[in-house]
Amino acid sequence: VGLRVQLLEAPAALLCPCCGARPGHFLPIPDSYIEECRARGVRHPLDAWETLNLHAYLCPGCGATDRDRLQTLFLQDRLQPGMRVLEIAPSPPVSNWLRSQLEIFYRSADLEMPSADDKVDVTDMRLYAAGAFDVVICSHVLEHVADDLRAMREIRRVLTPGGEAALLVPISLLVEDVDEDPLVADEAERWRRFGQGDHVRVYGRGGFERRLSQAGFKVERFQPREPSAGLSASATLYLGK
Ligand SMILES: [Zn+2]
Repeated sequence: VGLRVQLLEAPAALLCPCCGARPGHFLPIPDSYIEECRARGVRHPLDAWETLNLHAYLCPGCGATDRDRLQTLFLQDRLQPGMRVLEIAPSPPVSNWLRSQLEIFYRSADLEMPSADDKVDVTDMRLYAAGAFDVVICSHVLEHVADDLRAMREIRRVLTPGGEAALLVPISLLVEDVDEDPLVADEAERWRRFGQGDHVRVYGRGGFERRLSQAGFKVERFQPREPSAGLSASATLYLGK
């Protein structure tokens, strides 16, 4: 009877979309991160961040975060042979999955990472022609960029008509528009107010969507209902078309 009860209560089988592992569970967010947020006095409680799944954050197989898994589900849904994909600030679990897709053209770009294919400033991607890509993915970049509107316009420029940008930023449910102040340069104050010492703002849902619209995008949300990927109920990928 004990065994039967255990089986009935077992959670849905998990599958990491990035590496294909079938872990018994995804790992929670590290205690060290929770401690650091507490020590820094971050104003936004951890459960106020959209998408963030505190209890099932990391894949034990490949280290994919919940947002890596969300992006890969989107790519699995969208990619067709021959498509051209640009990943800005490449994340290894996503890049490795993309590089294993032999029928697409993949490029990664970053200003600083030596592992990226191209050294590119997201606010000035003149290396790429207009319409060079069918899909651009850009996760947790724009909150670091002083002129995020210019970066959004650049992403739109390099997209082909009909292409899609998949965009993620930290979104606090406590923020309605966008909380930003270019005069806040103090690292400790940035931690408290924006959640990390090198972030220059924190977005709310509405504010992020409005800014993307301002950059010329038509905005949609990708919210997969895929229990095996270990995503939070609030997991949302913003699509700019
Ligand atoms: Zn994995």
